[in-house]
Amino acid sequence: MAKTLLIKNAQVLVTMDAQRREIAGGAVFIRGNVIEQVGASADLPQTADEVIDASGRLVMPGLVNTHHHMFQSLTRAVPGAQDAELFGWLTHLYPIWSGLTGEMVKVSTQTAMLELMLSGCTTSSDHLYLYPNDCRLDDSIEAAQQIGMRFHAARGSMSVGRSQGGLPPDSLVEDEAEILRDTQRLIETWHDPERHAMLRIVVAPCSPFSVSPDLMRESARLARSHGVSLHTHLAETAGDVAYSRERFNMTPAQYAEDAGWVGHDVWHAHCVKLDDHGIGLFGRTGTGVAHCPCSNMRLASGIAPVRRMLEAGVPVGLGVDGSASNDGAHMLGEARQAMLLQRVGSGPDAMTARQALEVATLGGAKVLGRDDIGALAPGMAADLVAFDLRRHNFAGALHDPVAALVFSAPAGADFSIINGRVVVRDGRCLTLDAGVLVERHNRLAAELVAGS
Ligand SMILES: [Zn+2]
Repeated sequence: MAKTLLIKNAQVLVTMDAQRREIAGGAVFIRGNVIEQVGASADLPQTADEVIDASGRLVMPGLVNTHHHMFQSLTRAVPGAQDAELFGWLTHLYPIWSGLTGEMVKVSTQTAMLELMLSGCTTSSDHLYLYPNDCRLDDSIEAAQQIGMRFHAARGSMSVGRSQGGLPPDSLVEDEAEILRDTQRLIETWHDPERHAMLRIVVAPCSPFSVSPDLMRESARLARSHGVSLHTHLAETAGDVAYSRERFNMTPAQYAEDAGWVGHDVWHAHCVKLDDHGIGLFGRTGTGVAHCPCSNMRLASGIAPVRRMLEAGVPVGLGVDGSASNDGAHMLGEARQAMLLQRVGSGPDAMTARQALEVATLGGAKVLGRDDIGALAPGMAADLVAFDLRRHNFAGALHDPVAALVFSAPAGADFSIINGRVVVRDGRCLTLDAGVLVERHNRLAAELVAGS
């Protein structure tokens, strides 16, 4: 028999279920890796193999991160890339990243996942798009398995170097046939299409300015022949749009449509500059967007029209984006910034706290193509997090604890459960030694930057 786990007495249980119930004194009963019952503590079984008393905590579905480049956590706050816009920032960092090794990928992925996990995230995607030296996506996957995070590993790629009119140096690009071969190998080795899967593979050429239209089309064909999702960067900045117009004579949205990159199985990062035609197209086709407010502010890319996207039916999730353009990957903090930034662009009612939490949970799940995470309901994967409402952050804000979670300074997770397993307790990660990891990470970060 699978082990049972009962979380009871939550001060408030945010379900994100079909009725968006918020249950005072709520409880969740888990069997194995799946939620079996959700309701008031008095109405659920009173005991289980393990019982967690969640008094004083807000319990909610684990947050879903839809866009990241975890290797970049080795190059946070690098002098020289602190104050640049996207293309200048990339041009400064590419030579440093060319020293990346497999060990660095593995360690930086664990650090990034540790940071996400402690901020309430239980599922993340990661977009690894450069493979110098001995780097493999398998390094990221093994890191995720060790720390215990639900993972959508995106096999990124770059194939158009500077000599071909692209942005990256020629030394960092790969041969297109080799990219497709390796992507197929990864799908066949690792992809799990089953409900409650802990690991999925995503086909993810880096961006229109670093791969050819051919690779975009071939990638879409490969992904659809295996039933896996597609992910890339799109319409991030004005420079991005200008490149698309000059090189392809199309807007980014037209380019995406032309290459077969629209549909429920596709999500694009950023879309800060998605025009009205693009918003309509994405809404009609169910094409998803990973909104990355901190990164968009850090690089001064602009304010993504998220409110208009949501009104048009575009699936929108949140992404912290790579750690070199958002040096603090805090998922709850990202939800807060999403709410605040929409208000800067569209007024104080542009996004409520509850809408921000919905985008961070159900929205992210939809963008990743999943109906088994993002809500606490029977049959869903047992991914949930708790925040301690007795902390100073929330003092005086308990008139509405759910809104307080977003309005107040971002809290860390008090405990976290992923796939039915307790991975964070009392704000500490149980699956690896954070002190040892951070020391190793800092040593590798210094080596990487010194070696460039
Ligand atoms: Zn990105």
